[in-house]
Amino acid sequence: MTVNLLDLDGKALSAFVSGLDEKAFRARQLKRWLHRQGEADFSQMSDIARSLRDRLAQVAEVSPPRIVSDSVAGDGTRKWLLDVGNANAIEAVFIPEAGRGTLCVSTQAGCTLACEFCSTGRQGFNRNLTTGEIIGQLWLANRALGAAPGGERVISNVVLMGMGEPLLNFEATVAALKLMIDEDAYGLSRRRVTLSTSGIVPMIDRLREECPVALAVSLHAPNDALRDRLMPINRQYPLAELLAACARYLERAPRDFITFEYVMLDGVNDSEAHARELISLVSAVPCKINLIPFNPFPNSGFVRSPRRTIERFSQLLNAADIVTTTRKTRGDDIDAACGQLAGQIHDRTRKAKRLEGVGS
Ligand code: SAH
Ligand code: SF4
Repeated sequence: MTVNLLDLDGKALSAFVSGLDEKAFRARQLKRWLHRQGEADFSQMSDIARSLRDRLAQVAEVSPPRIVSDSVAGDGTRKWLLDVGNANAIEAVFIPEAGRGTLCVSTQAGCTLACEFCSTGRQGFNRNLTTGEIIGQLWLANRALGAAPGGERVISNVVLMGMGEPLLNFEATVAALKLMIDEDAYGLSRRRVTLSTSGIVPMIDRLREECPVALAVSLHAPNDALRDRLMPINRQYPLAELLAACARYLERAPRDFITFEYVMLDGVNDSEAHARELISLVSAVPCKINLIPFNPFPNSGFVRSPRRTIERFSQLLNAADIVTTTRKTRGDDIDAACGQLAGQIHDRTRKAKRLEGVGS
């Protein structure tokens, strides 16, 4: 069986190369070809000895997910639908902005956590993505977008905010994160790679130890009663525990901050009282708040808060010295917005069953 080299982080690639009785520096060369150059054809890897290139062609392959469709929205947002086998599809989205380009990456085919307002959560769960499927999204997008005229990469930031809960696919996700920040692979700074989580407390602690990238936490409610309802995972890891984990995360990187995401749902979590409760909830954690206007999907049962309500909510937080931004909705015409990364998932779980694991 051939090894998909996209499944290997730096350490695993070194082990693979030494298993072929090759010198250690070959692993670095290979990593640069694979990830910096985006090269899939071993015969093109000109500074690698021909004998090794031939050997690689026999025992290894470079196989990213197959592209099913590639669409570009009026505002430049670009979305790839990717086949991950067994009729499951995931999505990756590139969002160009002044001075930076962000790629939004998926980590699971579906999600087990069933948040009420999330279309991925409503679809169910099929399986975890492999490292090759996660890093493969960046690999493919880099190849498709090429370099900017100055030679700089178009993708300057990566956010793990596509389909799935990254901390419930920990090993594969961390291997992919390590490649993202590896100088010889994608070379992104730790602060330009953001993992977004619904709040899997023990895994936040492990991430801090193993790969402390920037952390975004989906809060969405300022008290346990409401968060229990919107995000069932809160019954297992309630707010006090989650905020304590956020504070511990920053001990490792004191100059950092947590980004709290807060989806604005009309009449549900967007009152002035909610804003005040949110201010006191996060007061002990250095943070920024990102308000996300709800992206509707069929039969969601929720409505996006009116613009005035979002502005007022934001003003209250800013007045309390919490830096607050409101996410622009992008790529509306190609359904590339948050929570619409629907793909196509063949649910292998029953929703009731999934929730059983979540209740405390
Ligand atoms: N599972 C992780 C990361 C993926 S979701 C998490 O929950 O954090 C990325 C962000 O989009 C999360 O903050 C999520 O709550 C938000 N989101 C999900 N559905 C949404 C919707 N319909 N409208 C707006 N934001 C949504
Ligand atoms: Fe899963 Fe995140 Fe969607 Fe919740 S918001 S269902 S954790 S992808």
